[in-house]
Amino acid sequence: MAEGAAGGTGRRRGRRAAEPARPLGSLTRQDQPHALGTEECGSCGSRQLTRLRLTLADGTEVTFVSCHSCEHRAWIPVDGDGTELTREQVMERSARR
Ligand SMILES: [Zn+2]
Repeated sequence: MAEGAAGGTGRRRGRRAAEPARPLGSLTRQDQPHALGTEECGSCGSRQLTRLRLTLADGTEVTFVSCHSCEHRAWIPVDGDGTELTREQVMERSARR
């Protein structure tokens, strides 16, 4: 089994390393605990994740999760029950009023 180390070549062609697209919101201290349900990817179950603590413009503290395997991205409120925000909710909460 020599394959595996090289990783799936067809999956993320044209993308550089594991740098997530710049997420919405501002970075907060990275030593704070992450939201529930962010240990694994909500889409594929992978634990190869980038997790960042962010604060959206309306003050909502979230964990931003970016999956290395399937590129699923999620914003999950830190004080919630692990339910992801929808993209619309993220946009709403990121808008300056
Ligand atoms: Zn995934």
